[in-house]
Amino acid sequence: MRCPACKLALATLEVEGVELDFCVEGHGYWLDEGELEVLLGAEETVLEVGELGGGNGGKGPGGRRPRCPRCKRSMTPVVLFEGLELDLCPVGDGIWFDEGELAVLMTELVRAGRVVADTPLARSLDSLTRHFGGTS
Ligand SMILES: [Zn+2]
Ligand SMILES: [Zn+2]
Repeated sequence: MRCPACKLALATLEVEGVELDFCVEGHGYWLDEGELEVLLGAEETVLEVGELGGGNGGKGPGGRRPRCPRCKRSMTPVVLFEGLELDLCPVGDGIWFDEGELAVLMTELVRAGRVVADTPLARSLDSLTRHFGGTS
C-alpha cells in the first residue's frame, strides 16, 4: 500500500498481531477495519467504518480527498470530534489518520471513558514517535 499523501510505500509495525501501516515520511497511519478496536483494546466498535464511510461513492467535497491505499477510491471525511477529521474508505477498507490524529482520537476516547489509557496503541505510538523523531 502507498501513502495517500506522498505515494511512498507504507511501512508496517506489528502491534498485538495487528499490522499498523504508517508513512515513513510521517504523514500518517492506515488501519484496516476492525484493527482500531484491537489496538485500543475496545470491546465495542469504536468506529463503524462501513457505516460512516459509505454513502457518497467517493465524491467528497472538492473532489480532492486523499485516496484509499487499498481500493484507490477517494476517502470520505468524517468529523469525530471538534478538530478531528478522519478519512474513511467509502467501501469500508479502513481509516487513514493524519499524523497526530491517532493520538488525538486516543486521548478523546480515554477522556470519554471508552477505552483505558494503557492500550496497545498507546505503547506503539511511543515507538512510532521515536521513529518519526529522526525524520522531522
Ligand atoms: Zn507519506
Ligand atoms: Zn478502500
